[in-house]
Amino acid sequence: MGIKRNRIVVKVGTSTLTNELGNSNLRGMEELVRTLADIQNMGNEIVLVSSGAIAVGANKMHLSEKPRSLRMKQAAAAVGQCENMFLYDKFFGYYNKTVAQILLNADDIQEEEKKENLANTFEALLEQGIIPIVNENDSVSYTEIESDEKLFGDNDMLSAVVAILCEADKLVILSDIDGFYDKDPRLYKDAQLISRIDTIDESTYKLAGGAGSRRGTGGMRTKLQAADLATAQGISVLVTNGKNPGALYDVIEGKKVGTLFAAKR
Ligand code: ADP
Repeated sequence: MGIKRNRIVVKVGTSTLTNELGNSNLRGMEELVRTLADIQNMGNEIVLVSSGAIAVGANKMHLSEKPRSLRMKQAAAAVGQCENMFLYDKFFGYYNKTVAQILLNADDIQEEEKKENLANTFEALLEQGIIPIVNENDSVSYTEIESDEKLFGDNDMLSAVVAILCEADKLVILSDIDGFYDKDPRLYKDAQLISRIDTIDESTYKLAGGAGSRRGTGGMRTKLQAADLATAQGISVLVTNGKNPGALYDVIEGKKVGTLFAAKR
């Protein structure tokens, strides 16, 4: 697979896009958007993979608790996706950037013809300087929302699939934590950040623990799966804290930040 040197896929999770009350984290989103716009101005091509539709939708619908039934989750996703895109369009608009929405299901990537069309769409958008914003099509697909063994796990896997499809050079996964630790830092105060991982194997998965935060859902396990998939295709993967979008400048400059999963070739 060819790699486009200045092409970066950035994945942002629910825990970065919403605050503790489940409302949109406007300051965080603004900072992220400004940084991405600036990085694009520096000559990079950006694809954003963004979750958060269900949480934002549930909040906008004034649901008293996280929706549990499939139909309510899908309804919340439809409302929240709209709200998220409205905010992205507005914030990116400040910097004179055009965004595009791409909603995907697992089978869009499994069928060769659909996959090729999709790759061509990304290429056409990026060629035009447009920033594609990708999410899973939660209102249509249900396997991922419902099943425990989620295929895309809060979009971590989706971001790896998109990075491969776009032949990106880097995938940056913005999490609610500074990177990958030798054990779950929420459970162990003495957990140490691992700054570089060259090989992902069973022993690495053992460090990852179960699903993650209340608002995020994937945890580190799905990030490892994503890193495994993408690094095998020659894409470097970085996991770093979404609270500090400025770290993306360091990523561009090749400075040490978060955890780097080194590309295999
Ligand atoms: P996001 O919205 O960023 O995807 P998640 O909640 O899905 O957030 O995943 C991040 C969480 O994974 C962390 O907050 C942490 O509690 C948990 N976790 C489990 N094991 C580890 C580990 N080894 N290193 C870092 N975080 C871990």
